[in-house]
Amino acid sequence: MANPSLLILSGDGIGPEVMAEVKKVIAWLDAKRGITFDVSEDLVGGCAYDRHGTPLHDDTMAKAQAVDAVLLGAVGGPKYDSLDFSVKPERGLLRLRKEMDLYANLRPAQCFDALADFSSLKKEVVAGLDIMIVRELTSGVYFGEPRGIFTEGNERVGINTQRYTESEIARVARSAFELARRRGNKVCSMEKANVMESGILWRQVVQEVHDKEYPDVQLSHMYADAGAMQLTRNPKQFDVIVTDNLFGDLLSDLAAMLTGSLGMLPSASLGAPMENGRPKALYEPVHGSAPDIAGQGKANPIACILSFAMALRYSFDLGDEATRLEKAVEKVLADGVRTPDLMGPAGGTPVNTAQMGDAIVAA
Ligand code: ATP
Ligand code: MG
Repeated sequence: MANPSLLILSGDGIGPEVMAEVKKVIAWLDAKRGITFDVSEDLVGGCAYDRHGTPLHDDTMAKAQAVDAVLLGAVGGPKYDSLDFSVKPERGLLRLRKEMDLYANLRPAQCFDALADFSSLKKEVVAGLDIMIVRELTSGVYFGEPRGIFTEGNERVGINTQRYTESEIARVARSAFELARRRGNKVCSMEKANVMESGILWRQVVQEVHDKEYPDVQLSHMYADAGAMQLTRNPKQFDVIVTDNLFGDLLSDLAAMLTGSLGMLPSASLGAPMENGRPKALYEPVHGSAPDIAGQGKANPIACILSFAMALRYSFDLGDEATRLEKAVEKVLADGVRTPDLMGPAGGTPVNTAQMGDAIVAA
């Protein structure tokens, strides 16, 4: 059987720095576990613009479509701020998401005990937290027509339209149920069926997909406002939350702050299942290119490493290896190893990016 294939797009700023630490993990898996990836590398973002005059070359796009998973670092930086919108680094990432049709955005909120003090909530509310928000990413109010600012009588009116088709809801619901089966087997769907027609349809379709295809998964429904309340009151009651584009935007940021630093947060964007049954997928840290600390060895590589752990679990069926990697991160944090962004008020001596990566590999 062919080796699993991975396209690495390190990008700009701290992207290559954090990705270098993921490569150590990939080398370790090869040497110690006999798990060999066919790794290819290419350019995206500002570095691609510098080379090709476009933030994503067609050849790179074709490679991304052909591999089992794409792992991305970060794109952008002040050097590119004045570029025309059509060639801005971020456009490279948007093209990847759009052409791969990545409609399910996964943002886990996982709280490592050693960092529970970083949460905006009380330690006991978040310690051991491990939930996953699945946000619909390609439809809803961000794309619905009509939209625009119009004139009505003698005043202006701003219009957006929340619009969801049955198939758009069904496919993201399937992503959530598939994930739940690999986790705690529980899905909570959030909408505002009390005031929105799209919310009524959302609730119906999620329920139908559940009853027909995933009756083994425990499903509940919640209004999104109540969901926000419950997420801050008792987040550990949830496993997988599935919601629309707008509510997902809000709820995933809320959930992120339950766990602390931006340097810790991984993400995945998933599309339709491929021939092998696994979804098209792009994995990336939530943080950006962090130009303020680029090139200084200060970047925390954990978000990128945990993004790779998600790839192991969701694209390569290597859930045990993913757990092993997550446990290594947990151990290193418990041992007190800290990049500068994880230094609490207590202070101490931080390690650099490479030392953090080395510690995780050793663990
Ligand atoms: P973008 O527009 O690409 O999201 P941004 O400026 O909004 O960029 P980041 O690039 O993520 O956001 O940076 C926000 C802040 O967080 C910066 O001060 C940055 O140094 C810090 N930061 C981001 N990622 C990391 C990391 N991996 N390790 C340490 N600090 C980080
Ligand atoms: Mg940002």
